[in-house]
Amino acid sequence: MPNPKSSLVVDLLDRIPLRAPIPEPVEGFDLLQHGMVAVLLRTLTHKQAESAVRALSRSFPDWNEVRVSQAQELAAVMGGGKKGVPAARLVKEYLQEIFQNSHGLELEFLREDATGAARFVAQLPFMGMAVANFVLWIANDREMPITPPLIRVLDRAGAVPRAASVRKARAAIEPLVPAGRELEFVMRFGEVASNWCDARKPICWECKLVEVCKHGKKVHKDWKDQQARLAAQRAREEARQAALRKKEEERRRREEERERKRAEAAAKKRAREEERRKAAEQRRRDQQRAKLQREKERAAARKKREADKKKKEAERARKKAAAEAKRKKDAARKEAARKKAEARRKAEAKKKAARKKTATKKSAAKKSSSRKKTPTRKKTPARKPTAKKATKKTTKKKPAARKQTTRKSTTTRRKSPVRKSGSTKSSGAGKKKTTRKPTARKTTRRKR
Ligand code: SF4
Repeated sequence: MPNPKSSLVVDLLDRIPLRAPIPEPVEGFDLLQHGMVAVLLRTLTHKQAESAVRALSRSFPDWNEVRVSQAQELAAVMGGGKKGVPAARLVKEYLQEIFQNSHGLELEFLREDATGAARFVAQLPFMGMAVANFVLWIANDREMPITPPLIRVLDRAGAVPRAASVRKARAAIEPLVPAGRELEFVMRFGEVASNWCDARKPICWECKLVEVCKHGKKVHKDWKDQQARLAAQRAREEARQAALRKKEEERRRREEERERKRAEAAAKKRAREEERRKAAEQRRRDQQRAKLQREKERAAARKKREADKKKKEAERARKKAAAEAKRKKDAARKEAARKKAEARRKAEAKKKAARKKTATKKSAAKKSSSRKKTPTRKKTPARKPTAKKATKKTTKKKPAARKQTTRKSTTTRRKSPVRKSGSTKSSGAGKKKTTRKPTARKTTRRKR
């Protein structure tokens, strides 16, 4: 009758995938080289991995030189075509991890202490428990390695109870492993231990054994419950965020509405101010236009006044010129009359002189003859002084007549005394008027 735990182990074993094929031991390789071949099987075939390790061993003096070399340089040595560089990077990473944890580049110490070796390989996540179990399997001379991660996975899966020691655990595990599949067993469970079954936080929901693992089912259930709680929490958080967003949007909408109203009020205010400014500008332009109009009107009125004034002045000048012309004409007429009178007087004087001469001649003739004739002719000389006196009086009046003529010509209102006085007797009246003329002049000046 088959052991149910053995069936469970086989079932578990068939469910676990391997990241790389199971390597084969290589004659002449040490533990470091076997581990390197197992790592290179992730990208290369077993033959390529084995030849690459051999090439590196031949080309470099030691593994530290390989660790510090460039991946391209290692790829050139390892070959492998397009996979050469990725394979070289695997080699460098593998050597670096061992160097950091052991401060050396060899794994032969794993053969000495199985417990210490198991603890050591558990600290190499890049190598992984699958490769580590292969190396330990080589180190233990093909004996199945029992490590704490293997015991943890089998315990959680319900295949083997957790034992107090490795020896008891080995005694419980070895009967459950199918014959000939020991290396496969430790490598597949090593993959589970490295990839999912962490000692503190296993990720059972990603593990391939979750459906058959007792602990995994519980963890998975708890994880699903947690996910549900998280989902509910996320939903609540999303709802809260949505409410906050809605509230924020509402606040922003109100704020935008306020801002819009504020902007509208500001725009209306600006429009009113603009209208006021335009009205003020229009008033100012109207006032300016009215002012210009008034100034034009005033200028026109001033021009008109000036024109009227000029016209009046011209009229006054014309009248003055006419009066002056009239005065000159009168003066000329008076002068002509005076000259005429003077000529007449001269003619009369000449005639008188001629008559006197004639009379003198006659008187002389008479005298000469009177000596012989009547003395009546003696009366003639008695009349001569009278004529002389009249002549003298007339001569004396001449300057008076001149003065009168000059003074009378200054005003157009006075009538010419020449016209009134046609004889020498009028010169006496003219003499009287001459005495009044200065008074008339003064009156005229005062009027101006
Ligand atoms: S299901 Fe969980 S507990 Fe079980 S083996 Fe996988 S990781 Fe470990």
